[in-house]
Amino acid sequence: MSPTDPTGPPLVAVHGLRKSFGDNEVLRGIDFEVRRGEVVALIGPSGSGKTTVLRSLNALAVPDGGTVAFASGLSVDFTQPVSKRDLLALRDRSAMVFQHYNLFPHKTVIENIIEGPVQVQKVAVAVAKADAERLLDRVGLLDRRDSYPFELSGGQQQRVGIVRALALKPDLLLFDEPTSSLDPELVGDVLAVIKELADEGWTMVVVTHELAFARQVATEVVFMDGGVVVERGAPSQILVEPTQERTKQFLHRLL
Ligand code: ADP
Repeated sequence: MSPTDPTGPPLVAVHGLRKSFGDNEVLRGIDFEVRRGEVVALIGPSGSGKTTVLRSLNALAVPDGGTVAFASGLSVDFTQPVSKRDLLALRDRSAMVFQHYNLFPHKTVIENIIEGPVQVQKVAVAVAKADAERLLDRVGLLDRRDSYPFELSGGQQQRVGIVRALALKPDLLLFDEPTSSLDPELVGDVLAVIKELADEGWTMVVVTHELAFARQVATEVVFMDGGVVVERGAPSQILVEPTQERTKQFLHRLL
């Protein structure tokens, strides 16, 4: 968690990422980098491959080609068969916040949060619980530690989803349309938490349709369409003065 360093090596570099589902070529050679402390907003029409990019970074989807390289030394080349060890190492670098929260319904809030640290990272239960309580307090949900997900609002569940990701202490946070399942009045609280994390220096990639949020929080906007990066740059450029016709059309439709 250090401030943005525009001259340093990227925290993660993605090159030539390709992925097909059967005949459907979903990613056709995706390139982008994320520097430490950067917030990259991934925008584009539905079906353009944004979620598949996030899932590839987190090894929830296994690309057919291309590389994902972390500054910490892990470099995975998907043109070769990838070992389980490399996939697990890749998964360990980042943590995902899902559109539909994906909390375990039969576990309490605190059990949901400590699951990854205790089961995967072998953190002692007492340590994981203390950490989870500190994080829950931060998002105003400490008093819900023993509630079940169904007892919480969507906004509260998503804040638990964010805490669960933070508890893994990843290099990179991945957000997959974190507010698109929420009632409009609950969106602001969740975006406020994400903005706070950005201000603290967390590195993140956020798939979002919230262009005002992207304008305010992102350091870079990547516009995808049809499985390629059409253009990328500062929010003030891509969201206000895009150079590509496809970007203009997409933004025009959202206005
Ligand atoms: P976006 O996030 O931009 O909406 P996605 O990455 O979710 O795009 O999906 C891109 C395309 O890949 C869509 O056509 C979608 O139907 C397809 N797709 C995504 N995941 C799968 C999967 N697990 N199996 C088959 N097709 C998939």
